[in-house]
Amino acid sequence: MEKKLRFNSATIHGGQSPDPAYGAVMPPIYQTSTYAQTTPGGHKGFEYSRTHNPTRQALEKSLASIENGKHGLAFASGLAAMDAVMKLLQPGDEVISTNDLYGGSYRLFTKIFEGFGLKFHFVGMNDVAKVEAAINENTKLIWVETPTNPMMNVVDIAAIAAITKKRDLLLAVDNTFASPYLQQPLNFGADIVMHSATKYLGGHSDVVLGSLVVNDDDLQERLSFIQNASGAVPGPMDSFLTLRGIKTLHVRMQRHCENGRAVAEYLAAHPKIEKVYWPGFHTHPNHEVAKKQMNDFGGMLSFIPVGADHKAAIKIIENLTMFTLAESLGGVESLAGHPASMTHASIPKEEREKSGVVDALIRLSVGIEDVNDLIKDLEQAIG
Ligand SMILES: *Cc1c(COP(=O)(O)O)cnc(C)c1O
Repeated sequence: MEKKLRFNSATIHGGQSPDPAYGAVMPPIYQTSTYAQTTPGGHKGFEYSRTHNPTRQALEKSLASIENGKHGLAFASGLAAMDAVMKLLQPGDEVISTNDLYGGSYRLFTKIFEGFGLKFHFVGMNDVAKVEAAINENTKLIWVETPTNPMMNVVDIAAIAAITKKRDLLLAVDNTFASPYLQQPLNFGADIVMHSATKYLGGHSDVVLGSLVVNDDDLQERLSFIQNASGAVPGPMDSFLTLRGIKTLHVRMQRHCENGRAVAEYLAAHPKIEKVYWPGFHTHPNHEVAKKQMNDFGGMLSFIPVGADHKAAIKIIENLTMFTLAESLGGVESLAGHPASMTHASIPKEEREKSGVVDALIRLSVGIEDVNDLIKDLEQAIG
């Protein structure tokens, strides 16, 4: 029956039922590390909160439901969730990944897991032939991120899944930028969908949390073994906050998309703006793929002012008053960022510019405020 819930109901009811103790409609914050046993092993399914906690379990069921998957796992952060996926692998195994990956993911792969003997290949995934060419007998996993940050490239999940299925490789998709409101990677053949729930799922910039959702029982068993053995689990309060955030995901996303479109179109028509990166434009190189796999185009976009350099871009960002200059994205409030000196500062300038992250690029996470106020703010900041 769960499986049949439509998305806008799954966000509220997926895997949830009133608490058996007192009928609490929201799952209580079970702020406990351990559980009373009547005799060794005699317990109600909970022994120790690293392994299981009722609030976290409620969240994990919700996560599975909104991604149209069977099993959800919650972690202390998005990167902790990725860390668990990488621990499925053995030294000598190889991973193929998107070349314009989230900076923290790139750091985890290259600075941590390369040291444990994993090998990573970073390729432009819009060209499926390049992905196939990078596969060898040691390849075990393909890691996709779509849309990408901050260039808003869109990768065809079904096309990559056709390759992984044929070769018996694992396909993981970082679905943070889209959220399951816009796309459900498991439906396109992915094996693992990962989220930084810190962003759209939590949605209020008040929690750091990560998640994985899978369909395969064996994969679930291996990942939950790692989750318990490595221990990067979220606490009950953070699980509760994320669960509360998810309940309004569909209404927030609808407004993020509306506002994102209005801001993208405003900027594209502005004489002082040279380029706007947003997958909803017909001129976006991956627009057809975006249309095929996404329900709408989201509230993330990047732009370049005409003739701007590093200093001019910073000045516009500093002039903004309703858009807050900050890291992160996906909250109800609008944020602006400067990728070259913030999220992508650790990537050498030449490397950065190869993927389009020039010094004049500005990234916006368009929130759910009144869009007229957002546009007015941009108008005065651009001048
Ligand atoms: C933020 C982010 C992450 C990392 O998640 P944390 O919750 O910050 O650990 C991974 N991928 C993407 C696309 C992100 O935006």
